[in-house]
Amino acid sequence: MQNNSRRAFIKNTAITGLGAGLLPNDMLSFPGNSPRKVKKVIVAGAGIAGLCTAYELMKRGHDVTVLEATGRHGGHVFTVHDGLSDGLYGDFGAEHITKPGYERYWSYLNELGVEALPYPRRKNILRRIDGKFYTEEMLRDKVVLKTLGFNEKEIAFLSKNPYWDLNSLYVKPYLSKFTDEYNPFNAGYDELDKVPIDDIYKRDGASARALEILSASNTSALFEFWRSAILNIRGVPQFPVDVFRLKGGNQMLPNAFAKKLGPRVWLNCPIQSIEHGASGVTVKYKRFGEEQVITADYLVNCIPLPAFRKIPVTPAFPPEKQFVIDNIQYDSYQRFVFQASSKFWEKDNLSINMEFDHPDLWAVWQSADEVDTHRVIILGTGSGGISVQRALAVFRELYPGSKDTIEQAVSRDWTKEAFSSTCERVNFPLGELHKFWPEIIKPHGRIHFAGAYADNLNWGMEASTRSAYRAANEIDMA
Ligand SMILES: Cc1cc2nc3c(=O)[nH]c(=O)nc-3n(C[C@H](O)[C@H](O)[C@H](O)COP(=O)(O)OP(=O)(O)OC[C@H]3O[C@@H](n4cnc5c(N)ncnc54)[C@H](O)[C@@H]3O)c2cc1C
Repeated sequence: MQNNSRRAFIKNTAITGLGAGLLPNDMLSFPGNSPRKVKKVIVAGAGIAGLCTAYELMKRGHDVTVLEATGRHGGHVFTVHDGLSDGLYGDFGAEHITKPGYERYWSYLNELGVEALPYPRRKNILRRIDGKFYTEEMLRDKVVLKTLGFNEKEIAFLSKNPYWDLNSLYVKPYLSKFTDEYNPFNAGYDELDKVPIDDIYKRDGASARALEILSASNTSALFEFWRSAILNIRGVPQFPVDVFRLKGGNQMLPNAFAKKLGPRVWLNCPIQSIEHGASGVTVKYKRFGEEQVITADYLVNCIPLPAFRKIPVTPAFPPEKQFVIDNIQYDSYQRFVFQASSKFWEKDNLSINMEFDHPDLWAVWQSADEVDTHRVIILGTGSGGISVQRALAVFRELYPGSKDTIEQAVSRDWTKEAFSSTCERVNFPLGELHKFWPEIIKPHGRIHFAGAYADNLNWGMEASTRSAYRAANEIDMA
């Protein structure tokens, strides 16, 4: 393994121009740094975080193996072609990135030659509020805003700013005191971790309608200020409208990592248990149904914590780490992919970017529009446990035009996935920020943590690549 790793290292450093040289006895040397040992590292999970961690470790010359439970890599970044015609595709998982805001992610697109496309899914949104559709133009109209129940301050703001930017009105005055996006504390608001953000909105005069939009149950004011401050520091609007996706589907980036990693990624190898000590880790996993054992100097956990907590770890983590693993909360939902034979909404003079006030189907928008065909893909998000036929029936019930041309519908219900039943990390609970942060990103002994859960902001693919880069550096420098 080590010889392969060293060969790969020479090849990869030549490709990337890192300029590192090799010393005898598996020592790595980087200009300006003292020599470091080649480390053997197991990466748990081949989602985008696991693949990126492994890629960064490989680039630094380490001997890395990725163990993935399922028969595919990519995890929640999942582009499908099956069941769709004319080369069309749909993203079952992660859908968009922003610029600015996804700097680490964009750096990999440049490094690996993966193309991004503008994704106008948040432009001209048609919103259904209390059973009635509103265009963006209507939601800037002061009379309409008054009818909806906004107060004078909110009407003045919304008549000049996007509808979903409303939280800026209430949080902006608190953001300038945060200067380090990785430190929510000591900005003068620590006590507000015990105060629900809804109390601040109410205190600062939010209308019942604004509260309906902004309300975040079990979320503290400190958490919400910090979340908004991270966006502020990154120069990202609270509701970014200019978003992007990858040509050919968002799985193109995990695919590019996996291609570089080659046989280092082992599929269908669910991890069964982890033992760790002062000098290394021992992992039991299944391959072709048989239990196998692999040892290494380090393990990086890139499995979302609700799945990770099912794996026995010996000795147990200290109570503060175990608390995070046991108590982190996620949401989960479903992705619908509708294939239509035409842009039927155009003849109705409507935008297909729609948000619904319906419990089963929450939003739809167009994707894959670069594919050379008259057919179109419409993506949708909604609750788990709903059949794709039901989601289509809801769309047909709500669609405000005449007739759609949807001819095919497929879906992925993440709530039902054995190894990936979660979607995105939700807010840390009221009063508990100090228990989760920064504990959630701290390594424990030979076990490091990366993944969408292990960064400051729960923006999945960027949090994955940022935390992957951090964990690879931690191990490289150890
Ligand atoms: C519908 C949807 C929409 C989203 N939209 C966006 C978006 O617009 N932008 C964005 O940035 N993010 C978005 N996300 C979030 C983003 O997809 C995820 O946060 C991100 O892909 C998580 O990556 P990860 O590598 O941390 O974890 P995962 O992708 O969950 O990968 C973890 C891997 O670990 C494997 N695993 C689990 N248990 C074991 C075991 N015992 N042994 C070995 N392997 C195991 C799993 O099979 C999986 O492959 C969305 C997610 C969903 C579902």
